[in-house]
Amino acid sequence: MSYCVNCGVELAPSQRACPLCGTPVQNPRQPYDPETPKPFPSELDLFSPSDDRGYLALIATLLLALPAAICLCCDLAYTHGAGWSLLVAGAMGLLWILVVPMLLIRRGRVWWALLLDTAGVLGYLWLVERFAAPGEWYWRLAVPIVLLLFFLAAADTLLLRRVVKGRLRQTAAAVITVPLLLAGIEAAVDFYLDGQVDLFWSLLVSLPCLLLALLLLVLDRRRRFKAQMRKRLHW
Ligand SMILES: [Zn+2]
Repeated sequence: MSYCVNCGVELAPSQRACPLCGTPVQNPRQPYDPETPKPFPSELDLFSPSDDRGYLALIATLLLALPAAICLCCDLAYTHGAGWSLLVAGAMGLLWILVVPMLLIRRGRVWWALLLDTAGVLGYLWLVERFAAPGEWYWRLAVPIVLLLFFLAAADTLLLRRVVKGRLRQTAAAVITVPLLLAGIEAAVDFYLDGQVDLFWSLLVSLPCLLLALLLLVLDRRRRFKAQMRKRLHW
């Protein structure tokens, strides 16, 4: 059994770096072994590997297709194609996109989820605009906000997986995304309502986020500093 020299976290032989602080693991008595099970999954997966994913996908498809088909038939028969059933069918389609591809895709699940979910949400909102609430809100409000969410989520995913190491720094990086998102939403809403952008409430909310990120980075530095001092002074 190894423990992190920096923060004391228990380490598995399949870990090259501490999952908490990112310090590289070097233990001659317990060398790195990629074959042993990893203590944390590299990708979030709600289903166990032994689940029959094809079967689950089929059941989910049938469960979602049934209400959609019933509503489409009722709409055609009783309201003569008024269009409301398309909203129900669209909602079922959106649920399908959120659930079924994640059952079947094995590699790059997070990226596929981001792409498909963004496309699904945009498609569903388009149906709402077309058949329930016509207006300019779709192109001027919904599309910019959904695309902003997509790009920020993609940037965060890339940053947290490839660039930023250590839990505290990763949390700080994620917290810094919040002001960007809020400023983008306020800018889109402002532009939609008045045709010009005056950022106000998003800046107010951004301040605590920036302070929290700063605090996390300071904590990260302090812990490293303390560990360094301990090493040098042989405490
Ligand atoms: Zn550590």
